Amino acid sequence: MPMVRNIVLTCFLVPLLMMESGCVGLSHVSPLVVVKRTQMHMGTLVSITAVAPTDQAANGAINAGFQEVKRLEQLLSTWITSSEISLVNASAGVRPVPVSLETWTVVQRAKQAADMTDGGFNIAIGPAVDAWRVTEDQRIPTETELDALRPLVDLQAVWADLREQTVYLQKPGMRVDVGGIGKGYAADQAVRAMKKVGALAGVVALSGDIKTFGQLPGGRKFPVGIQHPRKEGEVLAYIDLEDEAISTAGDYERFFERDGVRYHHILDPKTLQPSRGCQSVTVIAKEGVWADGLDTGIFVMGPERGMELVEQLPDVEAIIVGHDGRVFLSSGLKARVRFPSDSDAKDQAR
Ligand code: ADP
Ligand code: MG
Repeated sequence: MPMVRNIVLTCFLVPLLMMESGCVGLSHVSPLVVVKRTQMHMGTLVSITAVAPTDQAANGAINAGFQEVKRLEQLLSTWITSSEISLVNASAGVRPVPVSLETWTVVQRAKQAADMTDGGFNIAIGPAVDAWRVTEDQRIPTETELDALRPLVDLQAVWADLREQTVYLQKPGMRVDVGGIGKGYAADQAVRAMKKVGALAGVVALSGDIKTFGQLPGGRKFPVGIQHPRKEGEVLAYIDLEDEAISTAGDYERFFERDGVRYHHILDPKTLQPSRGCQSVTVIAKEGVWADGLDTGIFVMGPERGMELVEQLPDVEAIIVGHDGRVFLSSGLKARVRFPSDSDAKDQAR
């Protein structure tokens, strides 16, 4: 997962909750409090909002949420050399590594997301991501370099054994990177932890990977703004969420330009080049692990095939901005999404 220096990129999806801490009184009903706190974890800003009967209960739930995110970071981050994912990578071609059920589950979900997106999502992409080092050197690897790495980007060689609860990378030099699915999973798990200690509703937002549960006091859903992929700081569309997760993969987060060409961090596992079909893909699903796991894979599939997949999946919706700026909405979103009034996106939405 990316480190602190990527903080400038956090304005991905914006939960539109401005309250820091507030007391909301409802007539004839006990008042509820809404508390929001932000910390830095998994290389990004993590904001947690809790709705609870008291300040103490809300803060307790927020603490439980942050604890869970920190615990998962220690298991999943490739930046922490002692993490389970780092140990799996260090043992590539040598031996299977016993892992926690959480790490096993993330790897297994990643393999399922890969199947669903026809290989567009591929956590074995690690060596290619390193070759591009998009945010560091801004260098373009040669085809020869990429050809040499291609055998390592092989999801069939990623073994997740349930009975032994191990993960094994069959070929020396392979590296898995769960950065494209881990934040969504962490949001789900943080929500579970918050519910366990009595939060009535809330939001866990790891940058653009957001999971909501319940409603705001007064019966309002949680409003979220989706970042416009080409107009910095502007909202493409708004949507209200209840017991749903949302995640966006975009080419505007980490990129550089050379000779008028944009080179960004989402790679097509077939070509090992930045994927060209979309500017951004926002997925809404019941669970964060699916919203996050699917957005990157659908980005690689492109708008037409990606939307075909979304329409087949129950409880999954998407807003896709194609490479030419055209906006595609899944059928379940057409009545739910609001566009800013001056936006031309509405005319383009199909
Ligand atoms: P982020 O919020 O960190 O941008 P994304 O969900 O957009 O996360 O996933 C991007 C990350 O996934 C990149 O940092 C990279 O490490 C990794 N990645 C790039 N291309 C792929 C791919 N085709 N499949 C899986 N992971 C990828
Ligand atoms: Mg993702």
